[in-house]
Amino acid sequence: LYLSRDLQVPVQLKEASQTLSRTETNSATNSDADRDIVVNTRFGSFPHSTLVDLPWGSQVLASKVDTGSWAKKPNGKKRKRDESQKGEPSEHDRDSEELSSRREQGQRQAKPVIAADSGFAHLVPPTPEIWTRALKHRTQVVYTPDYSYILQRLRVRPGTCLIEAGAGSGSFTHAAARAVFNVAHVRKKKKYGKVYSFEFHEPRAGLLEQDIVGHGLQSIVQLTHRDVYKDGFCVDDASIEGAPRADAIFLDLPAPWLALKHLIRGGTTEGSYSSPLNPRTTTRICTFSPCIEQAQRTITTLRSLGWVEIEMVEIMHKRLEVRRERVGLQEEGLRGVNPSPANVSEAFERLKEIEGRQRAFHENQPEEQKAKQAMANSLGMISKAERLKNIRDAEAKRKLYKEGRLVHRTEPELKTHTSYLVFAVLSRQWTADDEKLCREKWPLGD
Ligand code: SAM
Repeated sequence: LYLSRDLQVPVQLKEASQTLSRTETNSATNSDADRDIVVNTRFGSFPHSTLVDLPWGSQVLASKVDTGSWAKKPNGKKRKRDESQKGEPSEHDRDSEELSSRREQGQRQAKPVIAADSGFAHLVPPTPEIWTRALKHRTQVVYTPDYSYILQRLRVRPGTCLIEAGAGSGSFTHAAARAVFNVAHVRKKKKYGKVYSFEFHEPRAGLLEQDIVGHGLQSIVQLTHRDVYKDGFCVDDASIEGAPRADAIFLDLPAPWLALKHLIRGGTTEGSYSSPLNPRTTTRICTFSPCIEQAQRTITTLRSLGWVEIEMVEIMHKRLEVRRERVGLQEEGLRGVNPSPANVSEAFERLKEIEGRQRAFHENQPEEQKAKQAMANSLGMISKAERLKNIRDAEAKRKLYKEGRLVHRTEPELKTHTSYLVFAVLSRQWTADDEKLCREKWPLGD
């Protein structure tokens, strides 16, 4: 639910009947069947029943809802739960409570809509960009300006196998999942892109796993709870022999250089390949570190392990706000004049004063120059082009006063987690078999 530029609320919609089907009991009454889940925000309440089946982009008005047993009494105190709800909380209750504890904006059971209120929201599809803005941050996250650049530099595309560590809040994970996804996932073909994600903080790994399953990404993202410094990146995956066979790596770890020893080529021509990297492709890596010292240690280790084309990048993303501003207010004489309609006459007076001063300046030009100008005028020496230019200038000036001058400002608080990005490349595995094949194809001269 897109409420404002700074507030988006992730909502998993449930129809009242769906909710009921999981809580169906003999005691279900008509009022239970009517029960609806409501997203409560500072812009108003949005019962799920008012959102289900609407097309993306729809504007939805907030509703006045009777939040039933959870509502406040007129005196401001919370009411007790109904008699029928005493005892063990139902699955419906537990579900609702879990949602509300996981999301900043609580979601509560409620009876149906009574009347429309003033606030509204837009329904927007769940993209990685929206998820990055809306997800509950459990760690620092990688923001869109960084991950879009990283994924492009790592050449991640449908079919790519990517290693990611640590997974943290899953912001990068979602963007990577979209980038590697291809139709083979739908057609269930063998080779398809995958994100192998690693996180050593157990509760964080658990919450991210819930998000991955909740968003239907389990066939694309394989999350492993592991300390990658110690245990590396090889995993069991029935769909890919010798998994992960990664083509790309993204490390958002406090000490990425400690994990690099596990990201080397390995194995023999006989097939016992014990590296997490794809032997048939060039591997691209990116590490994300807030301190230059971390970047330096990573670069030193990368060099010693044979990585090449090492490059460090810092992204300084700025959004420019472009708008028109009244010209008069920028002038020297108008500083300090409040541009409210009430002050228009004051501004106008000051403007006239400035113009008067300018006129006086021109009239006080040296006598010689004035005489020259008068002579030129009298002889009609102003060329046609000059006259046209004067007309155009006057017209532009008039327009500028009327519409205002184009100005731009940079927005200071754009969300990026400024870090140093270190990129590097490791060439593909080259075996004796590869060399033999190559010689057969392109025989060497004497
Ligand atoms: N990239 C993530 C995102 O976009 O949401 C944020 C990653 S967060 C800054 C760093 C994560 O690395 C933390 O969750 C931390 O638990 C994890 N981590 C630290 N050391 C690790 C290790 N040795 N193995 C696996 N994960 C580790």
